[in-house]
Amino acid sequence: MIKITLPDGSIKDFEKSPSPMDVAKSISEGLARNVISAKFNGTTVETVTPLQMDGSLVLYTWKDKEGKTAFWHSTSHIVAQALEELYPGIKLTIGPAIDNGFYYDVDLPEGSISEKDFQKIEQKALEIARGKHDYKMRSVSKSDALRFYKDQGNEYKVELIENLDDGTITFCDHDTFTDLCRGGHIPNTGIVKAIKILSVAGAYWRGDENNTQLTRVYGISFPKQKELTEYLQLLEEAKKRDHRKLGKELELFTFSQKVGQGLPLWLPKGAALRERLEQFLKKAQKKAGYEMVVTPHIGQKELYVTSGHYAKYGEDSFQPINTPKEDEEFLLKPMNCPHHCEIYNARPFSYRELPKRYAEFGTVYRYEQSGELHGLTRVRGFTQDDAHIFCTPDQLDTEFKNVIDLSLYVLGSLGFEDFTAQVSIRDLNNPDKYIGAADNWDKAEQAIINAAKEKGLDYIIESGEAAFYGPKLDFMVKDALGRNWQLGTIQVDYNLPERFDLTYKGSDNELHRPIMIHRAPFGSMERFIALLLEHTGGNFPLWLIPEQAIVLPVSEKHEKYAEKVLKSLENNEIRALIDSRNETVGKKIREAEMNKIPFMLIVGENNEKAKTISVRKHGGEDLGAITIDQFTNLVTNEINSTLKSF
Ligand SMILES: [Zn+2]
Ligand SMILES: [Zn+2]
Repeated sequence: MIKITLPDGSIKDFEKSPSPMDVAKSISEGLARNVISAKFNGTTVETVTPLQMDGSLVLYTWKDKEGKTAFWHSTSHIVAQALEELYPGIKLTIGPAIDNGFYYDVDLPEGSISEKDFQKIEQKALEIARGKHDYKMRSVSKSDALRFYKDQGNEYKVELIENLDDGTITFCDHDTFTDLCRGGHIPNTGIVKAIKILSVAGAYWRGDENNTQLTRVYGISFPKQKELTEYLQLLEEAKKRDHRKLGKELELFTFSQKVGQGLPLWLPKGAALRERLEQFLKKAQKKAGYEMVVTPHIGQKELYVTSGHYAKYGEDSFQPINTPKEDEEFLLKPMNCPHHCEIYNARPFSYRELPKRYAEFGTVYRYEQSGELHGLTRVRGFTQDDAHIFCTPDQLDTEFKNVIDLSLYVLGSLGFEDFTAQVSIRDLNNPDKYIGAADNWDKAEQAIINAAKEKGLDYIIESGEAAFYGPKLDFMVKDALGRNWQLGTIQVDYNLPERFDLTYKGSDNELHRPIMIHRAPFGSMERFIALLLEHTGGNFPLWLIPEQAIVLPVSEKHEKYAEKVLKSLENNEIRALIDSRNETVGKKIREAEMNKIPFMLIVGENNEKAKTISVRKHGGEDLGAITIDQFTNLVTNEINSTLKSF
């Protein structure tokens, strides 16, 4: 008798060893049709592997991440077979599943693979897939495995096998194809209905540039053609919305090799946008009782040794700055927190004066490998919308709720509607991992969960995900393309108050440790603006966008009137410009559309007579001829509808 425990806790008995597929069939035919992968006692198994002992089984379908991994891994075998058939003499190396699809690294005997070959590879692979070949795993002795690949002259697989222990080596067969493989396949090739080769790139064997350069073939596959079509549309849209492309087109920021990689330069329009974002948050923070502080871009090495950041960032980061004075070392600031701790330490506090909330748009520097740099999302210098709250344990509850309110205000005003909260708490089986008294942790975790509940957040609790120094809450924001971004972490910290010996005088006249909360609703200005660009496709909310309107005179004759219109708009605090080039209105409209300007104000003969403007919205909607006052009201109303109150 074999006892199989399912994720819902139910137990099923089987007379003899069932395969995961047998278990699926015993639940429902529908499930059996959809199961493509399984995990038994925590290990990935084939759906046909007989389960020889009692244990817990998880069945996966295409909807699960594990299902997709098995699907894409299995497709890489099919594509490898297609490549072998199309390019005789090709040597296969490794071909894993990745986040979105799979790749296979191959050594081509001659020539190269380019985009014009993709279709031929896809067709061949699909032809193989349609054969509905089963994936069959088998154990092979080390000597047989070595002989198999030595006969093929494949030194890469030989090298891989040489590093494996005899008795652990398995091959996977399907159709006429065999590959060295640890397993984790879908039942048969026929489930793969759509295959797309996405790109090729160079890759060194084992990632070492002293080794042979291989060709990496990237691809993706789906169980339905429709899903591939949708994926390709999404890719197209993501390309259009790439913040690096939009940032250039909208003249927001640039990079210079001379200045250095990963160090963004903000152009006037981008700088103005940042400034508006900063003012927006500063205004809300002032209402919420924050005080602005300013700290330098460098600090003595000792400061970061005290904070523990040197141990974390020191070795692999920017090296210390030396001065003419020997033994003096400074570091570029990797975090603002140590500086703010010393601001708190500048004078003694009584419990009556807490909480203190210090905010700073603080620029920090962290060394990232050049291969890791990416537009504004991975940079070496960035500005955090940082703040640190120092409070008593009794105040934590209220402070946490207030920070959530502020974060919700920020997300709402910037058009992020779809988000969840993730609460990270301790692993109670591992209490020694954490600093700070257990009852403080209990209180803090409860405070965060209560706050999430009370604010009506859609939240999940992750046990064991808390940092060693405190629990936290993260907002996981879904952008317009359905991608998840982590934003606005609220972190409780028992560690830095200890390290910096922060105190306050309690009502008992004794000294106590305050609790510190780190929070940054945007995270960093750079990453946030990148996210905002990709979320909105450059169509920022009206209150934030660089130019709200553009005046387009129909001809030279109306330039004077157009200038007057512009002046009135400026007087009404509407950000506008004028396009008085000697071009057709049609061309001016097309360019204004490309520059994502929300309102085009066309002025011609009739407008001048009636003192109106003809308003066309970005995207084409015609609002007709209205007065400037009417237009100002329209702008104000639209801004008020997006900019939530705080
Ligand atoms: Zn495999
Ligand atoms: Zn901090």
